[in-house]
Order: sequence, then structure tokens, then C-alpha cells
Amino acid sequence: MSGTLPGDAPRLVLATHNKGKLRELRELLRGQVPGLDVDTQVVDAAAAGAPDVAETGVTFAENSLLKARAVAEATGLVAIADDSGLAVDVLGGAPGIFSARWSGTHGDDVANLNLLLAQLSDVPDAFRGAAFVCAAALAVPGSDGIAHETVEYGQLEGTLLREPRGEGGFGYDPVLQPAGMDRSCAELSPEEKNAISHRGQAFRALLPAIVSALSGAGST
Ligand code: IMP
Repeated sequence: MSGTLPGDAPRLVLATHNKGKLRELRELLRGQVPGLDVDTQVVDAAAAGAPDVAETGVTFAENSLLKARAVAEATGLVAIADDSGLAVDVLGGAPGIFSARWSGTHGDDVANLNLLLAQLSDVPDAFRGAAFVCAAALAVPGSDGIAHETVEYGQLEGTLLREPRGEGGFGYDPVLQPAGMDRSCAELSPEEKNAISHRGQAFRALLPAIVSALSGAGST
């Protein structure tokens, strides 16, 4: 298939509908792959006509791989997917893969955050450790299924506040204060957050595999 694509045809799909994640990935890849126009050739799931994939795995890595594999197979393009969440020490790593639906309703950020704060209301400050964690997967399609896949991880450690703080970000950002900082993630600029975030770390760790896949190597 390579060598026959028009100049602006998509070459890399990010399995997401989140425009913020697509923007982050494009910035990470800008100038990294010779001949890759990140603004036209790195696209999201909708632009590639990729299907929505059920997150039926029980780990972040499994879910990221499920999504990357399905999108690579459906589109014939190199695909990336991530899965992330909040892992709270005293909850044994929960909400974890259930972070987006902790209160019972998928994507209700306010209800999820308020339930978590209520559950931890009696937990002393010294035991309020938590981390955002992310797995990012790359899947390279071959002539007979997936030819190559890679998973990388990132983690942003911190402490859970007792009240939400800040207007930025999403999800649990207002209650996670990164280690060594005196602001919540929702009080950081997008650039500050990307520089330290779990997702930024995982995508950066995946960069060599992405470059290799798009340069034609590593796809066997
Ligand atoms: P997803 O992997 O983007 O689907 O994220 C799953 C859920 O984890 C989100 O709905 C949030 O509740 C939580 N989460 C993941 N990353 C972050 C983050 O950077 N800030 C706040 N919440 C996050």
C-alpha cells in the first residue's frame, strides 16, 4: 500500500474522538517523520472512518491494544490508542479502568469526582496518594492481520485534594495535585500539564515505534 498513497492521504490514526488528544499527538510528531504532514496525515477515528471499539479489557494496556488493533485492521493504517484513568492508593488502584464511569454514568466527570471525594472524606492527608496512569498502544497492519504492536506507559503521581480546585482540564484534574507542585492539574496550563502528564509520557515513549512504523521499518 505504501508508495501509492496521495500526498495528503491519512497515514496514522489516533483511535479517539477527543480533539485535544489529536492536537497533542500532532505536536509530538511534528518534524519527527520525514515527509509526514501531521496536519493532514495524522487523523482521528472519525476522519479515518474507524469504528468505535468497546473497552472490554481489564487493564489499561489491554484496552489500548484492543482499540489500536481494531482501528488498524479496519483502516489498514498504522493506529494508536490510549487508555487512562486515576489509580488511588487506598482504593487499591481504583477507580482505574472504571474512572470514566465510577459513579455509574459514563463520562459524568462531576459525579465521578464527587463520589470519589465522598469515599475518601475520612482518609488523612498522608494517605491520599494517587496517580493518573496511561497505556498507549501502536498497531501496525500487515498483509494478514496485525504485523507489529507496542505498548508504552506513563504515570503522573500526586495527592488527592479535599475540594476541587481550578477551572482547566477535565475529569479528576481539579483534585489531583502533582507531586512537588502547589496547584491542582486543573490549575495548570495545557502546556504545563502535557509536559508532565501520564499521556504525554506514554506518547513520547511510543515515539520511536511510531517513527519506525511510518518510516517503513518495524512493520514486519
Ligand atoms: P480516557 O482514557 O481518555 O477514556 O479517560 C478515562 C477517564 O480517566 C476519564 O474519563 C477521566 O475520568 C480519567 N482521566 C484520564 N486522564 C485524565 C486526566 O488527564 N485528567 C483527569 N482525568 C483523567
